[in-house]
Amino acid sequence: MLGHIVSYQMLNHDVVEIKIQLPQIISYKPGQWALIDYKVSEQPLKRAYSIAEYKIVDQNCEITLAIKLLEGSKSGGYLKIAKQGDDIEVVGIFGHFVLQDNENPKVFIGTGTGLVPLIAMANMTTSDKKLYFSVSHKSDLFYIDRIQNIANLESHIHVSREEVEGCEPGRIDLTAASFPENTEFYICGNPAVVTAFAETLQSRGYQKIYTEKY
Ligand SMILES: Cc1cc2nc3c(=O)[nH]c(=O)nc-3n(C[C@H](O)[C@H](O)[C@H](O)COP(=O)(O)OP(=O)(O)OC[C@H]3O[C@@H](n4cnc5c(N)ncnc54)[C@H](O)[C@@H]3O)c2cc1C
Repeated sequence: MLGHIVSYQMLNHDVVEIKIQLPQIISYKPGQWALIDYKVSEQPLKRAYSIAEYKIVDQNCEITLAIKLLEGSKSGGYLKIAKQGDDIEVVGIFGHFVLQDNENPKVFIGTGTGLVPLIAMANMTTSDKKLYFSVSHKSDLFYIDRIQNIANLESHIHVSREEVEGCEPGRIDLTAASFPENTEFYICGNPAVVTAFAETLQSRGYQKIYTEKY
């Protein structure tokens, strides 16, 4: 379906936030993603992007994406020149990495743009909730305002390669943290990091672990 870019803004030096209005209401659960079909050549160029925010506006819906513009990226060439008012092809909303509808405590762990679906989930749940978010440098931070606006969220924002006031130093380290047995873990971002967290938590006996690898 043809979506319409209603807002385009850089969130930091390489993450762009794009809000897209879709011409119909599509069912959505927090954590899911949309597929963008760039249609830039004969070769298909489709990329999945998690949805940070979903809103119904009249008979349409609006999705907010936050996308890292990677060096040498195929889709980045288009994204860098995209602007408010452009049309963009969106193929549905998909995904099994979704917020479980219960009151179990929830721990969200994200690296880089792995934060995006966690923002949507943390916003929607009324469970006890904690968020661990990490980036390498201060300049990589984004959506700090969104994190701070989520009610009753205990947040741990890590900047691993430099000291930043208000942030925790080093990488996310859960070895000293303990969580109730029924805690659900939602882990998203770099595949190696997601696997490492999931394996560590499994080895500690936690069973409700949900992952999305970018
Ligand atoms: C379910 C799902 C949801 C996703 N949600 C998001 C999202 O919300 N925001 C977002 O920015 N991305 C997200 N991604 C990743 C996104 O779909 C693309 O894979 C990513 O943007 C790279 O595509 P590209 O065209 O920019 O790079 P390509 O042209 O495919 O690759 C360019 C270069 O970057 C390297 N590369 C590819 N992916 C990554 C990466 N993730 N990190 C570092 N280097 C990489 C490649 O090895 C290559 O050298 C998601 C992926 C999945 C599977």
